[in-house]
Amino acid sequence: MVKVVKFGGSSLASAEQFRKVADIIHAEDSRRFVVPSAPGKRFSDDTKVTDMLYTCYDIAAKGKGFDDKFNEIKKRYYEIIEGLGLDLSLEDDFEQIRNGFIGKAGRDFAASRGEYLNGKVLACYLGYEFIDAAEVIHFSDNGQFDAALTDVAMKERLNGVERAVIPGFYGIMPNDTIKTFSRGGSDITGSIVAAAVSADLYENWTDVSGFLIADPRIINNPAPIRTITYKELRELSYMGATVLHEDAIFPVRKVGIPINIKNTNKPEDPGTMIVESTSQKPEYTITGIAGKKGFTVINIEKELMNAELGFGRKVLEVFEKNGINFEHMPSGIDTMSVIVSQAEFEPKEQEVLAGLHRNVKPDVIDIETDLALIAVVGRAMKSNRGTAGRIFASLAHSNVNVKMIDQGSSELNIIIGVSEAEFAPALKAIYDIFVTAKL
Ligand code: ASP
Repeated sequence: MVKVVKFGGSSLASAEQFRKVADIIHAEDSRRFVVPSAPGKRFSDDTKVTDMLYTCYDIAAKGKGFDDKFNEIKKRYYEIIEGLGLDLSLEDDFEQIRNGFIGKAGRDFAASRGEYLNGKVLACYLGYEFIDAAEVIHFSDNGQFDAALTDVAMKERLNGVERAVIPGFYGIMPNDTIKTFSRGGSDITGSIVAAAVSADLYENWTDVSGFLIADPRIINNPAPIRTITYKELRELSYMGATVLHEDAIFPVRKVGIPINIKNTNKPEDPGTMIVESTSQKPEYTITGIAGKKGFTVINIEKELMNAELGFGRKVLEVFEKNGINFEHMPSGIDTMSVIVSQAEFEPKEQEVLAGLHRNVKPDVIDIETDLALIAVVGRAMKSNRGTAGRIFASLAHSNVNVKMIDQGSSELNIIIGVSEAEFAPALKAIYDIFVTAKL
C-alpha cells in the first residue's frame, strides 16, 4: 500500500503543526511520499509565507531595499526549525533566494521558495529524502503543465526511492526558469505524484474535515459529505465550493486513485472520500448544495424565433466574439435567455447588445442583473422521485421566487436562479428539506 500525503499551509504553519503532521505520517508506514505547501496562517489575520514572498519580491523588483520583509520570512522558518529542535541551516538557500530577488528571477521563483524551503525543513524533520520539484515537475515553453515529460521524469527520479518529500506548487520550464501552478496549486502536485507512483490513495490534509453539504457561512454547522464522486465535486466546485484546487482531480481521476480529504487537527475524523463511482448509498438524496452570486440574464424576444434556423447559433456567436462564456441558456418558443457572469458582461455590454441587434434583429432585449445561481447536486437524484418537487415546494414555502430552472439529462444536478437577495434563504430552504428534515 502506498499513500501520497499532501499537507496544506495551515497544517505546516508552525512547529506545533509540524509535530501533528509527523505523527500522522509516522502512524502509517504507507505514507511514503509527502507534498508540503508553504507555511500558511497561524491565526486568522496572519499572512501566508507565499504572500510574504510575493510582497517582498515586488519591493525587490522595484529596486528598493527588501531586507526587513526578507528577514520576516526567514524568521517564520527559523521559528519552526528551532521549535522542532532541528540542526538545520537554510543560510545558503536564503542567500541564493536573495540573489534571485536582486537578479529579478521572477514572481513565480519567489513564490515557489515557500514550498521549497518548507520541503527541506519537513524532509529533515521526518528523515525523508528531499526531491526538488524542479527535477520532476515540468512545464512547456508556453507555461502549460507538461504531463508527459513530468510523468517520465517523476517515474525515473522516484525509482527505488522509499520515502521522499517533494514540495508542491512549482516546477520548471525548458529554459530553466521556475514556474508555479495557480494559487493553491500544491494540491495539483500531490495529485501528479500520486498518479506517478500509482498510489492506492491520495490523502489531502487540510484544516477542515472534508467537504460540507453547504457553505458554513450560510448554513449553521452543515453536515459533512462522506463520499462524493468526481463528477459531483466538479459541479459543486464550479459553483464555488472550494477545499481542493479544481485541477487537482484530473491526474488521479484518469488512473482511478481516490482522494481522501482529511483534517490535520482532527485526524480521527473520516473526512471526505472523492471517488470515480460508488455503490454506497448517500445518506441524503442530495450530496451537496453550492451557489454563486453575480450573474446577468439577457432575455431576447422575437416573434417566430422558433422557426428561424440558426437563431441560437447567431446569438451565441455574439457572446463568443466578445469573449464571454455563457453559463446557461433556457429558452421558450419565442424567447431565449442567456445567463452570463456579470463581471464578464458589464465591460462588453454595449458591444453585445449592438451585436445581437445586428445578428438576430430581436423585438425586445431585456437585461436583468444581480442573479444568483444555486446548484443542487446528487448522484442519488436519478433514482429518487420528486426531488425537483421537494426543492420547489421548499422554496415556495420560504417565499423565494424562482427565476430560472435548468436540469441536465444526467440528473446529477438541478440549477436554480434566484435574486441575490433571496440567495441565502433559498439555500437554507433546500438544506432544511433534504438534510434537516431528511426528506
Ligand atoms: N502556497 C501556495 C498558495 O498559497 C500554494 C499552495 O498552498 O497550494 O497558494
